[in-house]
Amino acid sequence: MATKRRTSKTAPLAEYKRKRDFTKTAEPEGKTTRPRHRKLRFVVQKHEASHLHYDFRLELDGVMKSWAVPKGPSYDPSVKRLAMEVEDHPIEYNTFEGTIPKGQYGGGTVMLWDRGTYDAEGDGGEEALREGYERGDLKIVLKGERLIGGWVLVRMHRPGTRAQWLLIKHRDEYATAKLDVTDAVQTSVKTGRTMAEIANGRSRVWNSNRVEKTAVEDSGPRSVSDVARTAKKKTARKRSPAKGTTAKRAAAKR
Ligand code: MN
Repeated sequence: MATKRRTSKTAPLAEYKRKRDFTKTAEPEGKTTRPRHRKLRFVVQKHEASHLHYDFRLELDGVMKSWAVPKGPSYDPSVKRLAMEVEDHPIEYNTFEGTIPKGQYGGGTVMLWDRGTYDAEGDGGEEALREGYERGDLKIVLKGERLIGGWVLVRMHRPGTRAQWLLIKHRDEYATAKLDVTDAVQTSVKTGRTMAEIANGRSRVWNSNRVEKTAVEDSGPRSVSDVARTAKKKTARKRSPAKGTTAKRAAAKR
């Protein structure tokens, strides 16, 4: 079976670059350097463009394979989320959070919603990921701050140049129908900001993890409350400014 590669080996990120005017957007230009690191990374960016969606990106062969997931990921294995494949993004995009100017491609607000590393399910490594991507049955295990455990991306059909996939939670110890993670976690994994705060260009605020706290209290299985708790803790730690740290240190001395 001849599976056609949509990404040319000689011109990685060509489509990404063609769609953007880097004199107008703060998004990374997409250098094709390949950083040396052991673990493959993933990110999920919440993107309020013409329509709200979650950009789900998996590092593979020096780029971020990318899908736009309108409803975002779910921990419920009975839920199948549409994931529309989009152009490969540069690895530097993994740290991008901010606003893309109106009128530019993808104009709107981008929040770094989750990040971490991932592996192929089983011991197949990168070869299994490549093979799964080509076959349209990509089984992955995420180690993020909000997303932990196994998911599968299943390719449905390719109406034009873009494939439509489904993103589905695997039935594992993290699976649950009791936590709506996109509803429960509405802040940046990087800065703790809400979409409105990012859109307004504001820095961190101090009470924005109220929703995550609710998730911790209400979630069912221990494993998923751990996910939310970890997210909350890391957000809180990042929020501590120098002043707070000094105050804490003073308190500790007392
Ligand atoms: Mn997007």
